[in-house]
Amino acid sequence: MGVQELRYTPVDEIPAIREKSRAAFLSGRTKSIAFRKQQLLSLAYLLKDNATRFQEALTSDLGRPVFESNFLEIGTTIAEVKLMYDNVAKWSKPEYAAWSRNWFAMKPKVLKEPKGVALIIGPFNYPIFCTLNPVAGAIAAGNGCILKPSEQSPATAALLAELIPKYLDPELYSVVNGAIPETTKLLELQWDHILYTGSGRVARIVLAAAAKTLSPVTTELGGKSPVFIDPTADLKAITKRLMWGKVTNAGQTCIAPDYVLVQKDIVEPFIEACKDTLKEFYPDGAEASESYSRIISPASASRLKGLIDGTKGTIVYGGTSNIEERFVEPTIVKGVDFNDSLMSEEIFGPVLPIIAVENVDEAIKLVNSRDHPLALYVFSSNSAYKKKVFDNTQSGAAVANDVLLQAGAEGVPIGGIGPSGSGGYRGKFSFDTFTHYRTSLDNPKWVDMILGGRFPPYTVRCPLSWRGHR
Ligand code: NAD
Repeated sequence: MGVQELRYTPVDEIPAIREKSRAAFLSGRTKSIAFRKQQLLSLAYLLKDNATRFQEALTSDLGRPVFESNFLEIGTTIAEVKLMYDNVAKWSKPEYAAWSRNWFAMKPKVLKEPKGVALIIGPFNYPIFCTLNPVAGAIAAGNGCILKPSEQSPATAALLAELIPKYLDPELYSVVNGAIPETTKLLELQWDHILYTGSGRVARIVLAAAAKTLSPVTTELGGKSPVFIDPTADLKAITKRLMWGKVTNAGQTCIAPDYVLVQKDIVEPFIEACKDTLKEFYPDGAEASESYSRIISPASASRLKGLIDGTKGTIVYGGTSNIEERFVEPTIVKGVDFNDSLMSEEIFGPVLPIIAVENVDEAIKLVNSRDHPLALYVFSSNSAYKKKVFDNTQSGAAVANDVLLQAGAEGVPIGGIGPSGSGGYRGKFSFDTFTHYRTSLDNPKWVDMILGGRFPPYTVRCPLSWRGHR
């Protein structure tokens, strides 16, 4: 069928799209678990029926190999929707408070209620995973939602706009497409929850706008995720996993390993192992390989070229680019320090700076001198080494002996800490993000035989034990 052109939503239609979802939400139909399950099922079929079209769209947007699209986006998102489908009834049950002598009669409990209508703003790099995983959470929790995909991945955004109204309730769930003016309009409106995925720069704009309408926000951001290498590690084995994380989606992954901290005496063997790995991955070079993605735009490729050109380190592998073709070669740079161009911002591309350190203590100190990263990776089979690094650092995720896989693992959230984001989603954590924990109790009349003393005029002394729970 081929990819289609992206049509931006007229700005003046945006408030009515939110109103339509609000009215549908107020109709009460999302309260039914059967309704939510039916919508989740449709969402899974949206992906399954149109997998080939999504693969084509991702290839058009990102030059993506089909394997990466299936492994990292389409397959994991279908699995997530299935998980929601299987668990939504269980997760939606009220939770009763633990028995307490003072309160049991009133049966205090927490009702799991939808927040209302959510706004989900997506990035370009994983334009299915980062949009439909949160959408599944919003549906499971019983919300309406408006999705704003990234205009930088236009083929996927257009496909989502075509399919969502066909597969999902078109009053509750809509897609608004566009760039800054359209997103700005969306952000002028009040939302019952906003889940924003993207850069810290735009997150500041989103949070400032949300402050004006008191809309609650989850931010899923990026940053520079470091890698610690235990000097006793098996370099051949670890560089395969590490470089896979660096070159997947041409490095445009929020949790990609950004830079590596390597003890001085193993820098050279580590580089040799990385080079061998890249030669194995791309025997005829990455540009000729069908297993290598492209950068999202010439402007982004040019930004990466600028970072490479500006480095004071030594390029030991790669370094070439073709801006018009959006190609940047997998590149390894040694002799990089913390003031280098490659350390000035999240790289978000296939460039690996190597920072030589004396020991793990210096590496920990350097990492702690920067913003908390979204992910932190350690390659070691020594428990004491891993524990030392994890115990003395902070990050969204702490992962040993692999990279990226934590985003696909069931039962754990994706989320940052501080400047790498706030809140999280995936599985039950998505359900909770879009759920209001509504406290409820029902006090029978007879309780006033015991609690009647609370009414003025006060004639009894209030025992302090009433402030306790049991
Ligand atoms: P971006 O911030 O440029 O864009 C994200 C969204 O914000 C898009 O939908 C865009 O239209 C909108 N936007 C852009 N400028 C805006 C403005 N001035 N006002 C209002 N809205 C605006 O991010 P990106 O380049 O698409 O994504 C890359 C970033 O996202 C990286 O930093 C990456 O680490 C991060 N990311 C994080 C996660 C995560 O799960 N934590 C996942 C993917 C990407």
